[in-house]
Amino acid sequence: MEAARPPANAGKFVVVGGGIAGVTCAEQLATQFPSEDILLITASPVIKAVTNFKQISKILEEFDVEEQSSTMLEKRFPNIKVIESGVKQLKSEEHCIVTEDGNQHVYKKLCLCAGAKPKLICEGNPYVLGIRDTDSAQVTNFNIVFRYEIEGCEVIWAIKDKAIGNTFFDAGAAEFLTSKLIAEKPEAKIAQKRTRYTTEGKHRKGLQENLIKQILEIVIWFSHKIHLETMCEVKKIYLQDEFRILKKKSFTFPRDPKSVTTDTEMWPVYVELTNEKIYGCDFIVSATGVTPNVEPFIHGNSFNLGEDGGLKVDDHMHTSLPDVYAAGDICTASWQLSPVWQQMRLWTQARQMGWYAAKCMAAASLGDSIDMDFSFELFAHVTKFFNYKVVLLGKYNAQGLGSDHELMLRCTKGQEYIKVVMQNGRMMGAVLIGETDLEETFENLILNQMNLSSYGEDLLDPNIDIEDYFD
Ligand code: FAD
Repeated sequence: MEAARPPANAGKFVVVGGGIAGVTCAEQLATQFPSEDILLITASPVIKAVTNFKQISKILEEFDVEEQSSTMLEKRFPNIKVIESGVKQLKSEEHCIVTEDGNQHVYKKLCLCAGAKPKLICEGNPYVLGIRDTDSAQVTNFNIVFRYEIEGCEVIWAIKDKAIGNTFFDAGAAEFLTSKLIAEKPEAKIAQKRTRYTTEGKHRKGLQENLIKQILEIVIWFSHKIHLETMCEVKKIYLQDEFRILKKKSFTFPRDPKSVTTDTEMWPVYVELTNEKIYGCDFIVSATGVTPNVEPFIHGNSFNLGEDGGLKVDDHMHTSLPDVYAAGDICTASWQLSPVWQQMRLWTQARQMGWYAAKCMAAASLGDSIDMDFSFELFAHVTKFFNYKVVLLGKYNAQGLGSDHELMLRCTKGQEYIKVVMQNGRMMGAVLIGETDLEETFENLILNQMNLSSYGEDLLDPNIDIEDYFD
């Protein structure tokens, strides 16, 4: 017998997840339906709120992410009720979710925003650490935890690719940014006990880049030595006892890469890399990507999943199940994407998706139609890297453009780096590092797909005021 479906107006708007996507979705629903109760169910004791929001151009936005108590959210939006309990089951036929505290909540429309889980290179090893976004996002937060360990330490950084930040940057931009990294740092002011840690990163999508970026920044601030091992992966991790029994040899920190020496010191943990090198260290920071957190919701439900394991959503953030929407890291954008937008698991997209999902849920429940939000027209992200402003627009790394694209570059060492990706005379993407003031103009040029062939190299000529040119 088919399970009885509750009438469309039964139940509430329910949002699962207290991250940026979930909180933004709940806030938007609460604003649109001030006389209805909106339920936000989250597994964590704190929620993440967007603060200091600034729209810096049509699509580029900047904001801070702050962890807050859920009562602060309930105070700001009295019709939001936060339930602090993990969802353990979704009974989609019955329009009902079951939480760890044993309660069931009937929904009329549900938005799943349970984020993604960092992948650890190995589970259950006390010396392998993962970090959360808000730990790493604010260097000051991270300091509280790690400052004393990291100050004066040596860092061995193992990466799968040839250069740091492969997904975000081409070799030129990476060089521009990392020249600071390679420069020897002065001795740290307070010398702590000698510490060494290893970080391992497989470059996967934006999230990974951010993590790596944050670690790098922290390292720059607090370590005085960093050694890169490129094009390798972690092969094996040994605890001290295991390593001693195996009688393997490890290397000392390579001060001079040409002369590697055997380490006589014993370390709590050892990492063997696929390039056969073994290093001992105090702890390992694992930064190897994330997996969408779909596990609690998929059992017994026929969700369509993306290749990356996320819940597939259409251009209305709707999953393949009736009245179930998804936003943020948990979802996989499966609509016909704009040629200059791609999904990257970042705060900006979590906010935009959460906001737009709420608009779609509201429109569907009122029987209105709604157009896709324009933030999905163009990929636009602004961030900081080594204190430089970094703006990424469209297909900034020529993603998926094939071989018939051209790159135009302008670089002033230590000041700015500009890269433009052109195809058939049209601007498809750009990387702007430093205070270039070009983001708005380039955003427009990518959006309007104007034929720029006749401008040739003038496009990046520093003596031409390009903003005036296209006004
Ligand atoms: P999340 O923020 O992960 O929130 C998920 C929420 O769901 C949490 O509240 C969780 O408790 C809840 N939840 C999970 N399971 C359940 C359940 N079963 N029941 C109920 N609730 C549940 N992005 C940037 O733009 N800039 C950066 O600098 C940056 N740095 C990052 C650094 C690191 C180390 C990491 C891991 C990510 C970073 N990101 C960064 C990416 C960014 O954090 C994510 O894209 C963003 O947080 C996704 O938001 P979300 O709301 O989808 O998910």
